[in-house]
Amino acid sequence: MEADIAVIGGSGLYSLFDKHESLDAKNKYGSASGTISVAELEGKRVAFLPRHGNKHTIPPHKVPYRANIQALSELGVKMIIGTCAVGSLYSSYKPGDFVFFDQFANMTCGRDDTFFDEDEVVHVSMAYPYCDYMRRVAEESSNRMNLSYHNTSTLAVVNGPRFSTVAESKLLMDNGFHCINMTQYPEVALAREKQICYLGVGVITDYDAGLVGKIIPVSFDEVNRVFAENMVKLKGLIKEIVSGLNPEKRTCSCRNALDGAKVNV
Ligand SMILES: [Zn+2]
Repeated sequence: MEADIAVIGGSGLYSLFDKHESLDAKNKYGSASGTISVAELEGKRVAFLPRHGNKHTIPPHKVPYRANIQALSELGVKMIIGTCAVGSLYSSYKPGDFVFFDQFANMTCGRDDTFFDEDEVVHVSMAYPYCDYMRRVAEESSNRMNLSYHNTSTLAVVNGPRFSTVAESKLLMDNGFHCINMTQYPEVALAREKQICYLGVGVITDYDAGLVGKIIPVSFDEVNRVFAENMVKLKGLIKEIVSGLNPEKRTCSCRNALDGAKVNV
């Protein structure tokens, strides 16, 4: 089985893939979160991996991120579209809007976040973690679909699975963060270590701990409800983005991310 592009997201996206081949991938980092489907989408070989398992049983801090990215890399994947729900920390970033991240700050702990912890020392650049080329394609796709979106977003990635306190939410707002999520790290960083382009697509579902006193703080039921409401749009956006991507002709720097990053002895 081979694929050029992969989509990581909720199991609700399985339905994008008719007549697919499937694989329960296992590698030196363990088993992938769930069954990987590979099918043709918009004329391209696209894999789908449910981040939280086939039946959503894996919490954010226990997702086998390394096994997942290793499995996609072994399939030959060059580009990943990582979809997720995000909370907004910024009043003009509204529930139902799409967000394409350009920066993150890692606030998780205890996650295996590198492939380079054995024989070689590698310091991969993470200054610009998201693929500019893919973000541009996402922006063009959203314009064609007339979607409400934001093409810049600084994301705080927290460990979860609990939601934020009001104090934590305020701290992030005061420091200029736009959104908050529990799964982008280390997924995007590991993709970079494999020289895979990564696009983070967030669906805003809530206002975290409530824009500090102005709105009711987030609940999981509310996240689920808003995400489900936007599922049809998300599927349409993924198809449009896949249609616009050309994995064979990528000229972005992601494909050379390890150049000059290894310590030579
Ligand atoms: Zn790229």
